[in-house]
Amino acid sequence: MKIIFFIHLMFAFLVSHIASTKNRNVLGWGIFGFFMSLIALILILVSPAYCEKCKKPIKKKDGEHACKINN
Ligand SMILES: [Zn+2]
Repeated sequence: MKIIFFIHLMFAFLVSHIASTKNRNVLGWGIFGFFMSLIALILILVSPAYCEKCKKPIKKKDGEHACKINN
């Protein structure tokens, strides 16, 4: 059982790390990653990154995000 706990903990760290690189909710994704492990990992990988300023998803196609152009 201890090993399973560490696997879940590993997923929590991995998912929250990816979430932080995408400006997403680190704590929320960490908890989600702990309980859902692989499902959460896949979801965070396919989720778009959020803009640092307006917290809106940045779509890959419009790489030039509106509020970055304005600054
Ligand atoms: Zn923005």
